[in-house]
Amino acid sequence: MVIYKKLGLGARACLLAGSPPWDLEAVVQSTVYWRVQRARAEGNWPAPPEVRKWREEAQDVLFAQWAERLEIPGPSRDLVAAVRPVLQEWVQRRHSALSFHLAQILTGHGCFGKYLCEMLGREPTTAYHHCGGAMDTAKHTREECSAWSP
Ligand SMILES: [Zn+2]
Repeated sequence: MVIYKKLGLGARACLLAGSPPWDLEAVVQSTVYWRVQRARAEGNWPAPPEVRKWREEAQDVLFAQWAERLEIPGPSRDLVAAVRPVLQEWVQRRHSALSFHLAQILTGHGCFGKYLCEMLGREPTTAYHHCGGAMDTAKHTREECSAWSP
């Protein structure tokens, strides 16, 4: 089920921060809570490893639903293209905090010739200074640029 027609600002912020959408996170919490309550009502007191397993199962569902939402990326095409293939690894990474430059690469908003020229008028052309490419964009830097390929 795809809920969003486009990826809204809140959804983009969640993706960029590696923080699952709150509604999906709420479903994980609720699912685990009610599984524990049901077990207790039946006279079973689940051990922490069992509850942890239930949480991991619920999180697998969360990632599947989140990835499904990202199938319609709307205006955040570049961000989704960068993060969606590694969504779970991105969220669960234990290193590499989101830096100023990484945020620019992922969102496409920042010090790129296209943005600086067309949106801000602060560059005379959209060209990239490092390689001479005609269009400096986040996608060019991530996927095509000879200056960054090594
Ligand atoms: Zn280049």
